[in-house]
Amino acid sequence: PGGAHETDVIIIGAGPCGLFAVFELGLLGVKTHLIDIQAKPGGQAAELYPEKPILDIPAIKSITGEQLTKQLLEQIEPFGGKFHMNEMAVSLDNTPDGKWSIATDMGTTVTAPVIVIAAGGGSFQPKKPPIPGVEDFEGKSVFYAVRERSAFEGKNLVIAGGGDSALDWTLNLQPIAKSITLVHRRPDFRAAPDSVEKMHALANEQKIDFEVAQITGLKGINGQISAVSVENEKDGAYDIPCDTLLAFYGLTMKLGPIAEFGLNLTENRIEVDTEKFETSVPGIFCIGDMAAYPGKLKLILSGFHEAALMSHGAFHYVFPDRKLKFQHTTSAKGLQAQLGG
Ligand code: FAD
Repeated sequence: PGGAHETDVIIIGAGPCGLFAVFELGLLGVKTHLIDIQAKPGGQAAELYPEKPILDIPAIKSITGEQLTKQLLEQIEPFGGKFHMNEMAVSLDNTPDGKWSIATDMGTTVTAPVIVIAAGGGSFQPKKPPIPGVEDFEGKSVFYAVRERSAFEGKNLVIAGGGDSALDWTLNLQPIAKSITLVHRRPDFRAAPDSVEKMHALANEQKIDFEVAQITGLKGINGQISAVSVENEKDGAYDIPCDTLLAFYGLTMKLGPIAEFGLNLTENRIEVDTEKFETSVPGIFCIGDMAAYPGKLKLILSGFHEAALMSHGAFHYVFPDRKLKFQHTTSAKGLQAQLGG
């Protein structure tokens, strides 16, 4: 993270529509950078239903959210879009030479003549755990996401939650943390069975602790926790000493900072035309679930179509002096060499 970058088009959101936009823009010779607050691309398909079959992607009988993401990444790979993952696009500015600049919460800036908002239902944001007084410790010793793994090296960690994030980070941080106690209110998990098995194996080897308990409070001063207070039927109330709590209680989607970008909104979505999918501000486009226009369907296939039309509009900002030459991929020799067709 960090640094100043320049490109042709900045895509906010690496969900299915943002990913396919890399392809459609790439066909026209337009370079892209993508920004997403999530650790991995794929948006809702990767985060909310990775294992569910999607049955309405044209010409594909059935494909899971995870596999769709993988295949999109393979398809766009030749165009070399640069990913800034784990970063939230927080502000939009004009540059003196008439371009746009997006800054992220991790200190990265990207400048380009065009912005494409493919932010879906908004940015995924962690749900707060219902622990009294948790605000006093947030961002200091209580975290709801891992932005940099190395920040947890040598820590005495309590990890709370029963989904994939809690399990994945228990397994992933175990080699570098000083100690890990996984706390979940029930003995069963909503996570991949393989991860659950691996977690139990680590607990049997006493490399981590696993406690079935409800978190009731935090102990500590000046933002630094010293223990997590828990209780369960068997042992009553007790404290687990630690210096860091990672709580994974699920995600919600919020429009977030994009609401402040000065674009015309309808019910928290961004108004666009249906010719180019451009917003009320020239040079800023919006595609996918975030786009609002009469008859909009929140479907992946609609977002793919929107990406194609947006690309033709964006081209003229990126190359104001060039004429767009429309080509089919079946007959474009240069593209075939690049895409391996
Ligand atoms: P998203 O997939 O929502 O991705 C947007 C990305 O933008 C996210 O990763 C988010 O973190 C990121 N983002 C937002 N704001 C910021 C910011 N400020 N900074 C950084 N990153 C940001 N559709 C179908 O066509 N067929 C189906 O069968 C189907 N089944 C579904 C089942 C479920 C359970 C759900 C929830 C949805 C389903 N959908 C289906 C809908 C489909 O998932 C969406 O239409 C699609 O994901 C929209 O893609 P998108 O790229 O517009 O946005």
